[in-house]
Amino acid sequence: MVLRDSSGIIQCVVDLSKPHLKKAEEITLESSLELTGVVKKDPRAPEGIEIHVDELKIVGLAEPFPIRESAVAVDSEYLLDVRHLWLRSRRMQAVLKVRDTVFKSIHEFFRSKGYYEVQCPMFITAAVEGGATLFTVDYFGRRDVYLTQSSQFYLEALIYSLEKVYTIAPSFRAEKSRTRRHLTEFWHAEAEEAWTHLNDILHVEEELISYIVNRVLEERVDELKVLKRDISRLENIRAPFYRLTYDEALEILHDKGFYLKWGEDLGADEERALTMEFDKPVFIIGFPEQCKAFYHKNDPKRPEITLSADLLAPEGYGEIIGGGERIEKADELIEKIRRFGLDPKDYEWYIDLRRYGSVPHSGFGLGVDRLVMWICGLSHIREAVPFPRDIRRIYP
Ligand code: ATP
Ligand code: MG
Repeated sequence: MVLRDSSGIIQCVVDLSKPHLKKAEEITLESSLELTGVVKKDPRAPEGIEIHVDELKIVGLAEPFPIRESAVAVDSEYLLDVRHLWLRSRRMQAVLKVRDTVFKSIHEFFRSKGYYEVQCPMFITAAVEGGATLFTVDYFGRRDVYLTQSSQFYLEALIYSLEKVYTIAPSFRAEKSRTRRHLTEFWHAEAEEAWTHLNDILHVEEELISYIVNRVLEERVDELKVLKRDISRLENIRAPFYRLTYDEALEILHDKGFYLKWGEDLGADEERALTMEFDKPVFIIGFPEQCKAFYHKNDPKRPEITLSADLLAPEGYGEIIGGGERIEKADELIEKIRRFGLDPKDYEWYIDLRRYGSVPHSGFGLGVDRLVMWICGLSHIREAVPFPRDIRRIYP
């Protein structure tokens, strides 16, 4: 029989002719055991070693297990229904270990660079990324509040105290279309830094991604092999990354048969076409004002574009980070809020941050689940998360 714990699997040999081991015949798939025995080298065993069992205790005899690994496609709806059990598969075990290393290395990176970790509220009253994807919560029948789409505004408040801050927290977005890269609840690693301009923050982003990928390669090569990931693709991920302007991206897309008008945002198809050939992530810099939320600072030299950038992962994966420089002056912010058809009254405290000693500052948000999806080479973001939530799924 094959035994699994969190460290991996090992083949066990049980001599059924020994009376006290005869009960091994009853053991069903996924039963839990305690056993003692002798570890022996055996080149025929899958892991090169096996255990010759001396003593055996059945702790939890399993009912017939509903999943047979070989019988189902890895992204099937069925496996999502039984995700609470499918988490035990070698495949999920590998993804979850890579995910662990990714979260750990985000903390390592920011702490080693002098950022403070902060915590922001999940209940909020004003939209960060626009009203269309807000989840509304009835707050004691007194008023509606929303679940946060991003901690950015709170991080901006905190830089006046701590200068360099980051947080890793869930963000909630009522994404109505089902895509391979959108969840309704995802993990968001966000950073905000005082006294920085667009280029400074891009540098932080590429250093962060390089660091994470490198840590995964140090710790999780075995898991990447289980996932059949082409590891050579990850070995190449080192800063600096490529930089394209939005205008250049449009031209490349045009040559590939995508006829976007200037001012239109890149969708998943465009991002896939753009990044398919790249061997490293690529920044798309300087999106038109209408593509980005109101808080992005417009380029003083070319006011129709913003000092913003998305970072797209290669091999067709597309956007993993959105970020840029924020508006610094109160009057400029109020004017832009109005231009976007919003009411400055809804953003009073956010505007206050510009009234009392404003500083240039920039920040970004990394979608951690998307990063795990790319690093693991998965075809759907749901595979990167233990308990995914999307428009149709909130169980288990
Ligand atoms: P997209 O255009 O793909 O919807 P976005 O422009 O809405 O992304 P941002 O608001 O910039 O994304 O959020 C920052 C990052 O958070 C994105 O780069 C992405 O990695 C991640 N992200 C955004 N929405 C989702 C989602 N619904 N599910 C998972 N990750 C997400
Ligand atoms: Mg979006």
